[in-house]
Amino acid sequence: MKYIDPHIHMVSRTTDDYRRMAQAGCVAITEPAFWAGFDRCSADGFRDYYRQLTDTEPKRAAQYGIQHHTWLCINPKEAEDIGFAREVMSIIPDFLDCPNVLGIGEIGLNKNSKNELHVLEAHLALAKERNTLVLVHTPHLEDKLKGTRLIMAAVDNAGLDADRVLIDHVEEHTVGEVLDRGFWAGMTLYPDTKCTPQRAVDILERWGTDRIWMNSAGDWGDSDPLAVPKARMEMKRRRHPAAMIEQVTFGNPIEFLGRSPNFRVEA
Ligand SMILES: [Zn+2]
Repeated sequence: MKYIDPHIHMVSRTTDDYRRMAQAGCVAITEPAFWAGFDRCSADGFRDYYRQLTDTEPKRAAQYGIQHHTWLCINPKEAEDIGFAREVMSIIPDFLDCPNVLGIGEIGLNKNSKNELHVLEAHLALAKERNTLVLVHTPHLEDKLKGTRLIMAAVDNAGLDADRVLIDHVEEHTVGEVLDRGFWAGMTLYPDTKCTPQRAVDILERWGTDRIWMNSAGDWGDSDPLAVPKARMEMKRRRHPAAMIEQVTFGNPIEFLGRSPNFRVEA
């Protein structure tokens, strides 16, 4: 059965991961721009990263029959210096028309600081101007609920449609509000922090399967590129119907991502 991993950082993963994902049924991924594990010291570092995301990585994925898409931004962790963030952001429009770019992401907040919020607003304005989809990162643990509310308010203020924005890394205490306000919600399946596959399936059982998806957010840290197929096994083990499993891990990503003319997958 085919699936889509709509949030994974393949620049940090090996070709073995691509191979195993393809064997497990992965046919498409989307890769948001993120923090590389260290702060980049020049805007040119981002230019090279965007080249990697729009040129190198799609070719690597294609070798395994996986469609690769991407989102561009300067992530909130490196957005504390507003002058630097503006310099990086001035590069983004050069790449927005690349054939695998879906929109702006993963933007959001990390420490919920004033400067981060300022840079978030600038990204949302760019998404509005270019009419792109948006993928949002929400802060960790104790900052998550407050950060999620700040982000949703900023999206509303920017005049963007909630149903063209996905709020990622939702958990039990944020998912209800995100869905109630009309946004899409992403559950990140991590071995320890964020949702385990079991917790994610609990959330689906409580809040339903509309406007929600699951991703591995695999990166250079402790994460699992096969987390989505593992969550599918958990749904199967609990005897959820195949149509429901397919909706969450394939149909829903297609419905949301298909709003971008650059999204391609064989249905
Ligand atoms: Zn991420």
